[in-house]
Amino acid sequence: MTLELPDNEDVRYIYEQIDTHTDWFHDSLSMIASENLVSPLARQLQVSDLTDRYAEGLPGKRYYNGNIYVDKVETRVEEIAKRLFKSPEADVRPISGTTANISAFFAFLKPGDLYFAPHLNDGAHISSAKFGAGGLRGGNEMTYVWDKENMNIDIDASRKLLLEHKPKLCLFGRSVFLFPAPLKELQDTLQEIDCHVWYDGAHVLGLIAGGKFQDPLREGAHVITGSTHKTLPGPQGGVIIGNPKDEDQWKAIRRRVFPGTHSSHHLMTMAAKGIAFAEHIEFGAEYADQIIRNAQALAQALHEMGFDVLGEKLGFTRSHAMVLDVTKQGGGAPCALDLETSNIITNKNLIPDDTGTAMRPSGLRLGAQELTRVGMKESNMSEVAELFKRILIDKEDPLKVRDDVVELKKDFQNIHYCFNPEEEAYKKWRIV
Ligand SMILES: *Cc1c(COP(=O)(O)O)cnc(C)c1O
Repeated sequence: MTLELPDNEDVRYIYEQIDTHTDWFHDSLSMIASENLVSPLARQLQVSDLTDRYAEGLPGKRYYNGNIYVDKVETRVEEIAKRLFKSPEADVRPISGTTANISAFFAFLKPGDLYFAPHLNDGAHISSAKFGAGGLRGGNEMTYVWDKENMNIDIDASRKLLLEHKPKLCLFGRSVFLFPAPLKELQDTLQEIDCHVWYDGAHVLGLIAGGKFQDPLREGAHVITGSTHKTLPGPQGGVIIGNPKDEDQWKAIRRRVFPGTHSSHHLMTMAAKGIAFAEHIEFGAEYADQIIRNAQALAQALHEMGFDVLGEKLGFTRSHAMVLDVTKQGGGAPCALDLETSNIITNKNLIPDDTGTAMRPSGLRLGAQELTRVGMKESNMSEVAELFKRILIDKEDPLKVRDDVVELKKDFQNIHYCFNPEEEAYKKWRIV
């Protein structure tokens, strides 16, 4: 349905910008590792009457009336989440991965308590850092020792630190998440120090749910927090999955989600998460498998074309993500800008031992999950790599390369791995 636009400058301006943006993404290769395309069925729910409602608390124990059907939906969405993750517990209310993380920090730490997390240079998300949610709670952070060659936690060196400092909480999970976290390897140590074991699966949630990355709940994690819109291709939101060590641990999480850090939990999004989870039960294994195949094919092709792709020792990646050290090509910021001019959307990123800053880092982070979502396969990845080479190594005019990007993208406009796979990904939702 298209509404007639009124004669109002402000309204027109906003609508027109979004229309232009949508056209741009229709013509672009979207390779931000934290994004995806929500399915048509899940997107449709975002404009239901639930958009206008509140439901504070838990199903059956609400502060407001009017939640008879919302309660049924939320109960079912929780149940679908538990089925998808084979978990005893799920909280589907967090409105983002970050609010899920804030809830977890407040549940697991008291001010002054020590926690372990990966370093930002090694791929941690800002919410885990001292100046993010961890510091907001007043937690004291120590970081794991990093093994740059394996692009993972150095197990032996970190085990020594853990036994020495005995943190209250160990947080695993990263925004540059190439290889599974060594939960299994550290399980005995984590049990010995009896800490909360928290896995931040924001990036890799869809791969985990598809059974293709690692199985944190069976490897010793008590909770997984995550975003519902990265490799799990749902609406923008968060979720907490639990296999708690005891009832109190899960109760603490529930209380920090509400009333601790949320009031309205965006019911339209909560409902749409249920659709995304249900679709992932049907299509997740196949989707996750193809994402990883594509990421590995792309990393290999980029490597062969002369890019410095990190993690070579173990085959570059076992997830959707890849990281390039683009120091030789001029650094992360200018590279990401040239790619953007060519309609390839990526982001600059810090890499281990980076000598730059967050705004001028040495790396480039790529994700294959959205290209996979629109139907690309391994054979398309060498075409994508070739475009990268022309822009960043051959230094061809990015505007000229853009024509070829638009041409390649023409054949990849539908959303796959969901019900209604014939739906167009971008045009369908145009509003002007
Ligand atoms: C993206 C991300 C988050 C935050 O998720 P949002 O949904 O963007 O708030 C948290 N942790 C990690 C590791 C992430 O990559």
